[in-house]
Amino acid sequence: MARVFSGIQPTGELHLGNYLGAVRNWVDSQPAASTPAARDHEAIFCVVDLHAITMPWDPAELAHATRRLATLLMASGLEEDRSLLFVQSHVRAHAELTWLLNGIATFGELRRMTQFKDKSAKQGEAGVESLSAGFFDYPVLMVSDIVLYDTAEVPVGDDQRQHVELARDVAIRFNARFGDTFVVPKAVFPAVGARVMDLQRPDAKMSKSENSPQGTILVLDPPKAIEKKIKSAVTDSGSEIRHDRAEKPGVSNLIEILSVSTGRSIEDVERDYEGRGYGDLKGDVGEAVVELFAPMQERYRELRADEAELRRLLRVGADKARETSAPTLRQVYERMGFVAP
Ligand code: ATP
Ligand code: MG
Repeated sequence: MARVFSGIQPTGELHLGNYLGAVRNWVDSQPAASTPAARDHEAIFCVVDLHAITMPWDPAELAHATRRLATLLMASGLEEDRSLLFVQSHVRAHAELTWLLNGIATFGELRRMTQFKDKSAKQGEAGVESLSAGFFDYPVLMVSDIVLYDTAEVPVGDDQRQHVELARDVAIRFNARFGDTFVVPKAVFPAVGARVMDLQRPDAKMSKSENSPQGTILVLDPPKAIEKKIKSAVTDSGSEIRHDRAEKPGVSNLIEILSVSTGRSIEDVERDYEGRGYGDLKGDVGEAVVELFAPMQERYRELRADEAELRRLLRVGADKARETSAPTLRQVYERMGFVAP
């Protein structure tokens, strides 16, 4: 069975895009509890807190966001006996391997990363001067996160395509130079929901760290807030309800959200709304998302009441992750020519 690994940053609050694009598939990728694969934790998930310091951050908020996100992931359906959940900074191998792979990844590769190019374009030369070195280098941290666990598949949203591509390139380069060491990973995307757009700006993806409260549906938003945000979503000119990302980005986004939330195909949804108006569609999308999140919200409230249990879970997760990653890290040191202690 292929090892699955993925991560999420505690940079803000979990939103609909994270859930539809990634977390939902993490939950589904967990092996059945009774198989031997489950005991080896073939599905590994990580709150990647080391990634949260590449932009200015508040220490108290980071700690809070890390616990909240881990609790929410459990509430979403990650289960202790079917997968592993841990906090990245609890496993030193991630930071260590990043330094080692900094000797393999190139300046040119990092300079070509979309996130870095976009930021540079927006901020200009002077703005880039004050970006943290971590902002430039975090893709190598992400490569390390992935290859440390012999990961075959990385379930992610569409925006992570380039990062997983870098992980493949670095793994292949390392293997060619030092001998077969890393499994070469591949990204897996959901058929629908891989790129949920901001409700107010359907040309930009929904994001935790973008300040767009009205355009972002949080998993913990109360039902009234969810319905209101969807009601005021930006739609397109004309009144036809059809899926066309280029011509009708706002409506297409709503159709996709409804399709994934209810498990119906895009065509099925389109057929259902023939001759009907945007108001009908928005009402139904609101209802579907409220229903989708209700069980998660309830479970979150239960889990939040037991902080000791969360700490226990994360401790178990970190112990197993350390154990799983240690042989790979040791092999990397050896093959690169470092003398054993
Ligand atoms: P940030 O703005 O801090 O980067 P984010 O919302 O992009 O936050 P990440 O922690 O970077 O969230 O990504 C976690 C996972 O969620 C990744 O697999 C990513 O591809 C996925 N994801 C993020 N935004 C969306 C979106 N709008 N639609 C679908 N998937 C998404
Ligand atoms: Mg992101």
